[in-house]
Amino acid sequence: MENKIIDGKAIADQMKKEIAAEVADMLDHGLNAPHLAAVIVGDDGASQTYVSSKEKACHSVGMISSVYRLPERTTEKEMLDMVDFLNKDSEIDGYIIQLPLPKHIDENKIINAIAPEKDVDGFTSINAGRMQLGLPCFVPATPFGIVELIKRSGVETEGKHVVVLGRSNIVGTPVAILMSRKGVDSTVTLCHSRTKNLPELTRQADILIAAIGKQGFVTADMVKPGATVIDVGIHRIADETSPKGYKILGDVDYDEVIKVASKITPVPGGVGPMTIVSLLHNTLMAAKGTVYPK
Ligand code: NAP
Repeated sequence: MENKIIDGKAIADQMKKEIAAEVADMLDHGLNAPHLAAVIVGDDGASQTYVSSKEKACHSVGMISSVYRLPERTTEKEMLDMVDFLNKDSEIDGYIIQLPLPKHIDENKIINAIAPEKDVDGFTSINAGRMQLGLPCFVPATPFGIVELIKRSGVETEGKHVVVLGRSNIVGTPVAILMSRKGVDSTVTLCHSRTKNLPELTRQADILIAAIGKQGFVTADMVKPGATVIDVGIHRIADETSPKGYKILGDVDYDEVIKVASKITPVPGGVGPMTIVSLLHNTLMAAKGTVYPK
């Protein structure tokens, strides 16, 4: 079973080492360390956890991180002023607005006010459009991480049938675009809640990517023997036997699917660590002006 498991943490650690080496090289050449900022509005527990793990990851590769914590009552105008300030601050290479924002703020309006060259989450219409056209852009962290995970674990993609479950703008749709790109060259089927005969389609997948947000949805009978299964789902399930009082599970029935798959990502320790390291990758690209020359 062991050699079936795609170790996302080990691959992410390797990528972190590569990024840290590039940061050290920038410092050696008298350049500033890349600087990632994050804005968090309100005190949503999960958002706080995500932002602090992004901060920790930044420090682990020698990057600078700053966090702007704003109260829940922050107005849309104040958020736009914040975005304007971050767009203009030449010391900040890239920044993220932690979502969700409070309901009285138009998320779309705020995201699209981010300067594309600082949009390291790749959420602005400009970066999303450029990705679709195959132009240099910031690719959202989770889909970038998934493709990198597949490449680095030696899974062949050329001419393979990839079935993606879920069409969200942050995971399913961009990963479907990236897997069908020249160089990756898979043939992609994108499924959603209106898809008919879903198990019939998933059983045709050489690579099955599950991003639907339903715990344990993908069962062993939905998987072709020998397929690669990438589980994007994150679900926190109460568990009295664990010291934390909960466990994290994915969209895939891992214990059963591992028996038929040739490779599978665990949850936790699969796609999750790749998402954070991909944000660091984008921040490095922003600092170096790789995507949008400075
Ligand atoms: P989302 O926005 O809720 O999208 C879910 C997608 O799944 C939708 O396209 C929906 O179809 C489809 N779907 C729902 N039920 C379905 C069904 N029964 N059959 C087929 N398709 C179905 O979710 P998301 O933001 O993409 O996230 C998906 C999961 O990934 C969540 O568990 C989330 O926590 C996790 N996630 C993990 C990471 C990470 O770093 N590992 C990052 C982001 C998200 P419709 O479009 O028709 O509604």
